[in-house]
Amino acid sequence: MSASGNPTASGSTSGEKKTFPLDVSGNDLPPSPAPSSPHPGRRYNIATELVFTEGNDQYNASSVPIYQSATFKQSSGSGGGEYDYTRSGNPTRTHLERHLAKIMSAQRTLVVSSGMAALDVITRLLRPGNEVVTGDDLYGGTNRLLKYLSTTLDIIVHHVDTTDNKKVQEVLSPKTAMVLLETPTNPLMKIVDIGTIAAAAHEANPSCIVSVDNTMMSPLLLNPLDFGADVVYESGTKYLSGHHDLMAGVIAVNDLTLGDRLYQPINTSGCGLSPFDSWLLLRGVKTLKVRMDQQQSNAQRIAEFLESSGFKVRYPGLRSHKQYDLHHSMARGAGAVLSFETGNTECSERIVESAKIWAISVSFGCVNSLISMPCRMSHASIDAKTREERDMPEDLIRLCVGIEDVDDLIDDLRRALVEAGAVNVNMEGIAARESK
Ligand code: PLP
Repeated sequence: MSASGNPTASGSTSGEKKTFPLDVSGNDLPPSPAPSSPHPGRRYNIATELVFTEGNDQYNASSVPIYQSATFKQSSGSGGGEYDYTRSGNPTRTHLERHLAKIMSAQRTLVVSSGMAALDVITRLLRPGNEVVTGDDLYGGTNRLLKYLSTTLDIIVHHVDTTDNKKVQEVLSPKTAMVLLETPTNPLMKIVDIGTIAAAAHEANPSCIVSVDNTMMSPLLLNPLDFGADVVYESGTKYLSGHHDLMAGVIAVNDLTLGDRLYQPINTSGCGLSPFDSWLLLRGVKTLKVRMDQQQSNAQRIAEFLESSGFKVRYPGLRSHKQYDLHHSMARGAGAVLSFETGNTECSERIVESAKIWAISVSFGCVNSLISMPCRMSHASIDAKTREERDMPEDLIRLCVGIEDVDDLIDDLRRALVEAGAVNVNMEGIAARESK
């Protein structure tokens, strides 16, 4: 079998260029799940790449088999088989990793048991005394992990407004070992200029690892590696899987030496994704485009509805978003998470509790629509004083939009707003915000 795992690829042993059968469009593309780039030939568009996989299964199974096995028999006493123990590697996981590398435009991806496990693996690159520069509107779990590292490992963490390049520049130094970015930030939906910050970080310290949490966008909408990031990670629990039926984390890199360094803690600790969850994530990722397209167009309509009803809405799909141009200079869409303020925490609570289709739940990226109050839920691990310092409104409501019929979603929200006393509805059914 060839190194690519594809018996039809030829010329793979003597260093000659591999050739692949031409596809229907005449492209000389490598077989999936190998990354399509940087090989020659027109790359398939992402909608095709998401669903197109080719394996080397002996029965040509259309769905990649789940290798539910902890061990693999070896043909000799000295081992040497491609797989020996699932903590170190498993064929279902490998297939997923190669498929995701292609989708994330990366040379290598690694899949682990959760988004936080991915960040845990990445931060194991740090050493005591190292400095980390990161945002002030981070996912609560990320904040918690960084706090743990600063109190137990002597890592110095600078939280700054990463939407202000000057403020980032002020704290960058040769001691900055890692820059950790999220864009859009969550739940305030602030946009971070990945390219400018990555360049400044590498100038301050050429070996600084610029790491971007791309969970809010997914590879469908943004590829931070293309803007100078060294490592991209995502919670696969969100858009990549799409159904809130698994936990997973994905790490993507272009530098293969860095990939090997990141593989070490995974192999050592055993946080690699299980065969069953690898299979489930592989299935989920195939529908990423259809789900995200629907979620995004629903989110746009809902953001416009709330804005026209008089609320302060944070969504990068709205022209009123201060960083609309910056966001769209990097991303191919605005995503499906938005937040809005009511001006009154109790009123926000009543809205959240009155909604029916919108489930009160943490997380996002699921086919179902979710509603939450971040300060009480996903970001409750950030203490109240820090939340205030970071200008996080306690009354903020976050909406994570699903694939349901958008008119049903708006009707349910309108009814919840009326029941909570947040808006009046006139004879034409137009909602207008109650003056406070
Ligand atoms: N990053 C972001 C932006 C998140 O919202 C989350 C979870 O909500 C995570 C990372 C962590 O992912 P997981 O819950 O899969 O550990």
